[in-house]
Amino acid sequence: MSEKLATKLTCAIPGCKSIILRAGYAEKDSSFSLDPPAVFPALPGASNKDELNSSQFESLWRVSDKMDFDNIAFSLVLPGSGHRMLACADCEAGPVGFQPAGMEVCFIIPDRVKAE
Ligand SMILES: [Zn+2]
Repeated sequence: MSEKLATKLTCAIPGCKSIILRAGYAEKDSSFSLDPPAVFPALPGASNKDELNSSQFESLWRVSDKMDFDNIAFSLVLPGSGHRMLACADCEAGPVGFQPAGMEVCFIIPDRVKAE
């Protein structure tokens, strides 16, 4: 059985605290690989600032229905890859996750959010 999200996920930007997802609304996915791969620019102002490449993801939170998010903003479809990036709907910090090209499912990058 897959592991369900046991905490809520909130925005990692100090002072924002916006709830992105509530407990139970995501499942751990340790095998997804993004095609084509993408680079996720550093998250400004957060403690984990490093740029990430999708090949570095060890596990992701899989969200099967985008209506399950509390607060999330979608970017336009990115030219080239066709993916959409996800950002905090309140402070617009991102990317905190992505929606792969041509897929309904969304993924949150655990390093880019706070679990509490
Ligand atoms: Zn935020």
